[in-house]
Amino acid sequence: MIPATSEYLAPQALPEAIALLEEHGADAKILAGGHPLIPLMKLRLAAPVYLKDINYIAGLKAIREADGLLRIGALVRDADLEESELLRKRCAGLVEASRTLADPLVLNLATVGGNLVHADPANDHPAVMPALNAVLVATGPAGTRTIPLFLLLRLPEPIRA
Ligand SMILES: Cc1cc2nc3c(=O)[nH]c(=O)nc-3n(C[C@H](O)[C@H](O)[C@H](O)COP(=O)(O)OP(=O)(O)OC[C@H]3O[C@@H](n4cnc5c(N)ncnc54)[C@H](O)[C@@H]3O)c2cc1C
Repeated sequence: MIPATSEYLAPQALPEAIALLEEHGADAKILAGGHPLIPLMKLRLAAPVYLKDINYIAGLKAIREADGLLRIGALVRDADLEESELLRKRCAGLVEASRTLADPLVLNLATVGGNLVHADPANDHPAVMPALNAVLVATGPAGTRTIPLFLLLRLPEPIRA
């Protein structure tokens, strides 16, 4: 199917993207790698008035180590995880997990940020990141806040005798 028409916007910096999201609210959708947003649009399960392509925002594509933490940008692709020398040295489990994901076409486009935000229970990162005690750094109009992903894990009910 052909998706409904959206106005395509490509902010070049984070403050611009946040201002656009504030302006357009629920009418806007962020586009990162496009899996699964584009199929949802083609099925008309999503029909955003504004489509905000964040791929031109500098600084969201890096994997770096700072202050004792590994920082993975929202636009880092799954293929980048697999190829990262730094991750291989410091967090080999994440490299192993990314190797089990999908096929090269998906790996080259799909982003870590999109995987976590989409929060499909069948996705790998929502399971792997809490196991690594990962924290999501979210920036919006009210500033930046951290969301500990491991708190989002639902603990199993205790077994009762
Ligand atoms: C054939 C195929 C096989 C797949 N196999 C696997 C697999 O084995 N394991 C696995 O885990 N996943 C798999 N996936 C799913 C896919 O890899 C993930 O859903 C993907 O990582 C989503 O990232 P994206 O950048 O493509 O997201 P997009 O489609 O661009 O975005 C997804 C959602 O998140 C929002 N969003 C994206 N980035 C941000 C951001 N930075 N801030 C706020 N909101 C944001 C978007 O608005 C949208 O609602 C597969 C997908 C396909 C098509």
